[in-house]
Amino acid sequence: MQKPIAPSLCEPCHRINSSPHQNMRHQGVRQAASNDGAQERQYRCVTCNAIWIEPINKWGVSGGFRLLPNIG
Ligand SMILES: [Zn+2]
Repeated sequence: MQKPIAPSLCEPCHRINSSPHQNMRHQGVRQAASNDGAQERQYRCVTCNAIWIEPINKWGVSGGFRLLPNIG
């Protein structure tokens, strides 16, 4: 079997929008709030093990979800 370049995402992860889906677990803050209050929250999907990063800007507004590249 060939390994896909991108991790195979489950259905809810494929359709992720502006909020975490029900199988995503908050894993804490990946990057502590900087001086201006911006931070990054980390989530993990319990279905497909995808790690999602949600940047929160200094106004508390989500920048949307992006996949954390799986290193190693
Ligand atoms: Zn998933």
